[in-house]
Amino acid sequence: MNQRTAAPAVPPPAPGAEQYPALDFANSLLTLPTGPLDLLGTPDPASAWLIEHRLAPVGGRIQEICTARLQGLRAAVRELLDARVTGGAAPTAALAAVNDALTATPSAPLLRWDAERGPYRTMPHPADRIADRAMALLAADAAELLTGPDAERLARCGGAPCTRFFVRTHAARHWCSTRCGDRVRAARAYARKRAAEQS
Ligand SMILES: [Zn+2]
Repeated sequence: MNQRTAAPAVPPPAPGAEQYPALDFANSLLTLPTGPLDLLGTPDPASAWLIEHRLAPVGGRIQEICTARLQGLRAAVRELLDARVTGGAAPTAALAAVNDALTATPSAPLLRWDAERGPYRTMPHPADRIADRAMALLAADAAELLTGPDAERLARCGGAPCTRFFVRTHAARHWCSTRCGDRVRAARAYARKRAAEQS
């Protein structure tokens, strides 16, 4: 068995995901043609994801309970992105979850002052609150995405079963990746061929 069949291939980041970590965060729960895949499913990959996105210090690790909290925030962000895309009402609980993450811990370095060093800035909880800080940054980024100019171009992939979100690079873009576009086109071509054969 080669590596390609051993692990389902994750598509490249969706358009906008490099600019908005919150978008990539939302897309860390994937539905591939082979089935669902959670890139934040357990503490190790979740910690690696946070480090990769510069949301946790190198070598930092979050525990099981924080992984679950991270997944909870992601569900809320997905609901809000979905509400923005469909024009539906924002679920109150999702809004509260994002605001809780925003206010639970300061995401900006605080101003400190002591006699020896004078004024300086440090993070309030350097090591013990990795998840809180990462969640505050992701919530802030989600709020920025939802209220900024790119919110108008926010879309959800039309290449079922994919459920990734992306920022449209042009109005006619319907898919998060060429992989999804190719899959939809191939399915349509197959359906047309079947219909022609049966008529
Ligand atoms: Zn897609």
